[in-house]
Amino acid sequence: MQIEQLNDVGPKTAKLFHDLGIDTAEALLDYVPFRFDDLRSPTPSVQLGAAGGEENAVGRVVWLRERRVRDLEIVEARVRDDAGEFIAKWIGRRRYIVGRLHEGMRLFVRGRVERTPLGDPVMNVAQHAVLAQDEAYRGELVPVYRGSKELTTRKIAQVVKKNLTRLLALVNGDPVPPAVAQAEHFASLVDAYRSLHAPRTPEEAQHARERLIFGEFLTIAIAAQLRRRSRETERGAQVLAIPPALLDDFETALPFALTGAQRRAIGEIWRDMASDIPMNRLLQGDVGSGKTLVAAASVLLAARNGAQSALMAPTEILATQHAGKLAPLLLPFGIGVEVLVGSQSERARNAALDRLANGQALLAVGTHALITENVEFARLGLVVIDEQHRFGVEQRARLRAKGIAPHTLHMTATPIPRTLAQSLYADLDVSVIDELPPGRTPIVTFALREGAIDDVYEFARLNIRLGHQVYVVAPAIEESESEITSVVRVAETLKNEVFPDVRVGLLHGRLNAREKEAVMQKFVRGELDVLVATTVIEVGVDVPNASVMIVLDAHRYGLAQLHQLRGRVGRGAAQSYCILVAPAGDEAERLRILTESTDGFRIADEDLRLRGPGEFAGTAQSGGAELRFADLVRDFDIYRRAAQAASAIVATDPELTRAEHAALREQLASRPSTRALVLSS
Ligand code: ADP
Ligand code: MG
Repeated sequence: MQIEQLNDVGPKTAKLFHDLGIDTAEALLDYVPFRFDDLRSPTPSVQLGAAGGEENAVGRVVWLRERRVRDLEIVEARVRDDAGEFIAKWIGRRRYIVGRLHEGMRLFVRGRVERTPLGDPVMNVAQHAVLAQDEAYRGELVPVYRGSKELTTRKIAQVVKKNLTRLLALVNGDPVPPAVAQAEHFASLVDAYRSLHAPRTPEEAQHARERLIFGEFLTIAIAAQLRRRSRETERGAQVLAIPPALLDDFETALPFALTGAQRRAIGEIWRDMASDIPMNRLLQGDVGSGKTLVAAASVLLAARNGAQSALMAPTEILATQHAGKLAPLLLPFGIGVEVLVGSQSERARNAALDRLANGQALLAVGTHALITENVEFARLGLVVIDEQHRFGVEQRARLRAKGIAPHTLHMTATPIPRTLAQSLYADLDVSVIDELPPGRTPIVTFALREGAIDDVYEFARLNIRLGHQVYVVAPAIEESESEITSVVRVAETLKNEVFPDVRVGLLHGRLNAREKEAVMQKFVRGELDVLVATTVIEVGVDVPNASVMIVLDAHRYGLAQLHQLRGRVGRGAAQSYCILVAPAGDEAERLRILTESTDGFRIADEDLRLRGPGEFAGTAQSGGAELRFADLVRDFDIYRRAAQAASAIVATDPELTRAEHAALREQLASRPSTRALVLSS
């Protein structure tokens, strides 16, 4: 039903609803309040200010006065209730108050309350209403919707209230089967929507919300489990047998011993590859933990069985670096590396394509160039996707489609908290490299105030004199016009004033891919001493000679992101430093975590605790998937329950053919966001 068809929605209001992305009545139904203002009962004046947050009060106006503090017009009323008196204060709203309120009136007010040093409550009024002299106060639980400037929460609430019966008549397709709903003590879906838009108690609203969250999680969990199941029943992957002593041979050819974590990860991956169930595994490990080596071992096993491998990386630099690192690891085993990138010559490319198509070449490393149509593999058995979140669902699928049910290894340097990994990656197995190779000199991290910036640059200069390179990260260029000047201005200041005698380069998101690539290559080749950049350098680039990472405005970034940035240095033999510069304030406290820990998982967990899942969700999801009601962190317990229910459903009715699963089936088919949340889809 179009939103226009609802009562109280004229063309103008309809347009405002469209602007909020609400085009239909069904969408409005799903547009649930994000909180409720509890206006049900007033607090007696003597208790005001004790509870914190917004409070309600009802009383009679004793007197009114106006005053002015600098530019602010303030209206104050002394209000008396049965218990005592308090001051109600309106700031900057004089013209709405004066002339409309009078002494002797009965008033409802709501707002935050502070107490004066003498203990008198003063309320900063957020909303008020005039009551008739003998009117009993009857407060409600008021739903608060996310509105826009023109379409207020009040207007949305009014439309919902006016149309509630019609809206509730539209509820259908409950994804939660009756038996599950009963076991969870859920009300009907219609009642749940009613309780969300017009609850009698906060508990009722909470329970209703839980129900919608459960339904959302159930759908996702079912999608993930069905995917896993179809992988396990369809099978069809090449069985890659593990020759005895292959791991020893591999290690013997290395200049160092494998870490325990690498050995474990290789074991898990090889075990998967030795089965005809296609592997779908995520390899997580901090920057520098040695994932490349694990990838090499996987390629080796495939090659030993005559199967080809393809490794896809998000940028040309990364692909080239992977090729450069894999080549010496695989050379002793007679495995050459074919590179496929956009910039190579037609001839080189054609030669590589031939060798891949006729099966002579066993490994292709490349960018998106790997998924163009004319790339063919004779026997693609293993697909490795580096920084998997940088690719869309479809791109990943297109690479896999070049083989027949190839084994897939996803790699990421973003440590994703376990709770998120379990829910977002439910159809994936996860291997974690939680141990850095020995002999690394840990990066020294400082969190400094902006006032120390001259010293910071002096410190950088010292390192440049020692022959090292320096990153300076400034705020993202995309954010706003004013911030463009910020990264560009930093570069100019550095070029002209701070480091007039050294070579400074600039890298940001507004450059096209070719320009970015060119700047980056210069830095890689050591033709620049300082690289001023936005976070576009975040992922994967390896310049061992870079030893200093300076992050300006470090308070703007999540801890996990800062940890990623820090990983750009400390990749060579030299002692490396990460310097986080932020204005004085609470933020410094948060940044201290980075100075104390280099454990990516600990930092990710901390970040999750402090900032919520948004940042990781962005990392984890591709293709714009979005949860409508649920929050993966806050609601993780509900997820667990839903996943359990999902297992039971998939075990008994894997095709979802039973009548009670029809709605679930339909939701799975119709919601691309659900599918996108499942990583391997
Ligand atoms: P990642 O891809 O996880 O960031 P790399 O695979 O690039 O890490 O490894 C980082 C560096 O550590 C490389 O120079 C690599 O040669 C080295 N390295 C990897 N594994 C070990 C190990 N077991 N012992 C010593 N050095 C290692
Ligand atoms: Mg790497």
